[in-house]
Amino acid sequence: MVKLPIYLDCQATTPVDPRVLEAMLPWLTDHFGNPASATHVYGWTAAAGIKKARASLAAALNASPEEIMFTSGATEANNLAIKGVAEAYLSRGRHLITVQTEHNAVLDPCRYLEKLGFTVTYLGVGRDGLVDLADLEAAFRQDTLLVSVMAANNEIGVLQPLAEIGARCRDRGVLFHSDGAQAIGKIPLDVQRLGIDLLSLTAHKIYGPKGIGALYVRRRHPRVTLAPQIHGGGHERGLRSGTLAPHQIMGLATAVELGLAEMVGEGARLGRLRDRLWARLEAHLPVQRNGHAQQCLPGNLNISIPGVDGAALGLGLRPLVALSAGAACSSGRTTPSHVLKALGHSDALAQASLRFGLGRFTTAEQVEQAGTAVIATVQTLLGLPTSLGS
Ligand SMILES: *Cc1c(COP(=O)(O)O)cnc(C)c1O
Repeated sequence: MVKLPIYLDCQATTPVDPRVLEAMLPWLTDHFGNPASATHVYGWTAAAGIKKARASLAAALNASPEEIMFTSGATEANNLAIKGVAEAYLSRGRHLITVQTEHNAVLDPCRYLEKLGFTVTYLGVGRDGLVDLADLEAAFRQDTLLVSVMAANNEIGVLQPLAEIGARCRDRGVLFHSDGAQAIGKIPLDVQRLGIDLLSLTAHKIYGPKGIGALYVRRRHPRVTLAPQIHGGGHERGLRSGTLAPHQIMGLATAVELGLAEMVGEGARLGRLRDRLWARLEAHLPVQRNGHAQQCLPGNLNISIPGVDGAALGLGLRPLVALSAGAACSSGRTTPSHVLKALGHSDALAQASLRFGLGRFTTAEQVEQAGTAVIATVQTLLGLPTSLGS
C-alpha cells in the first residue's frame, strides 16, 4: 500500500536523506562548539568541520573555498547577491536585467531596488520558457551592473542557457548571478565553464535541511565586491554576520556530495518515471505540457488542462496526491502563477495547472497511482467517460 497523499512536490521541498541526517547529528551534540571560538578545542573542531564542508562545496562548483559564503538559504543568497551588487557598484550604474519567470526571491529584491531608483529590465520568455539571447543582447545598457537568470525553474523545470548568458555578460563586463536552488546536485554547475560570478544555493530542495544555503562569490577574474546585508560579528569575511551552524553546513555539503555522486543514474531514473507519467496523462486527458520538454529537470512535469476548474482539481486531488496545483510556490496565495502567465497562459489556464515534482524517494508505484488519481479526477471534472478500469 502506498501512503496517501503521495508526495509529489519535490520542487517545494524534500525530506532529509537519512545519510545527510547521519552526517549532521554529531555536530549538534559531540561537536557543538562555536566555530568562531579561537581559544579552545571545541571551537577548533567546529571550525575544522566547516572548513572541510566549505572545500567540498567549492569543489562541487569548481570554485575555491574562500568563494563560498554560507547563508540561511537561497532567498537570503539571492538578496545578498542582488542588493549587495547594487549597493557596492552604485557609482557605476543603476540598471539590472532579470527574467519574468524568476523566483520571487529574485523578483522581490529587484522590485525593492526599483523603489530605491534602480531600473530593472524583466525579460520575457518564449512559450517554452526559455530566454531569448537576442532579447538579452538588446537589454544591455552602458550602466548595466548585473544579469540574474536562474539555472532551473522551480515551476516548469526549464534550464536556461547559462553558458551563453555568461559569455555575453563577460563580453560586456557585466556581473552574472544565477539562482541555482533547483539545479545544484541535479545538473552540473561549473562556475568557470558557465561564466557565473554569483550562484545561490539551498539544501532543502536536494534532501538537506531547511534553513541553510550558500552564495558563491567570484574572487578572481573579476573579483566581485558585495555590500553586506546582515551586519554583526563580521563572519564570512564580513559579508554575512551570524554564528555559523556546523550541523546545517554539514547537511548542505553532504546533500550536494550525494546529489553529484548519484546525478547521472538518478537523473535517468526520474526522467523515465516522468516520461511514463506524461505518456499516460497525454493518452487519457486533453492536457498540454508547460515548458521545454527536453531542456528541463528530469523530475519535473508541469501540465495545464484547458477547461478544468483549477480550484476543484486541487480540492479533488488533495487527499490523494500532494502537489502544487494552480498557483505553485506562492505561499498559499491563489493568484495564478506568474511563470505560467509569462508563457502566455490566461489566468484560468494557469489555475488549471499541476506541477509534479518527483524525487529520490519517489517510486514507480507512487507515480503510477498518482497518475491514475489525476486521470480519474480530471475525467470526472470534465464529464468525460472514465478510460481507466478500476
Ligand atoms: C526554493 C527556491 C528558493 C528559495 O530558497 P530558500 O532556501 O527556501 O530560501 C529560491 N529560488 C528557487 C528557484 C527556489 O526553488
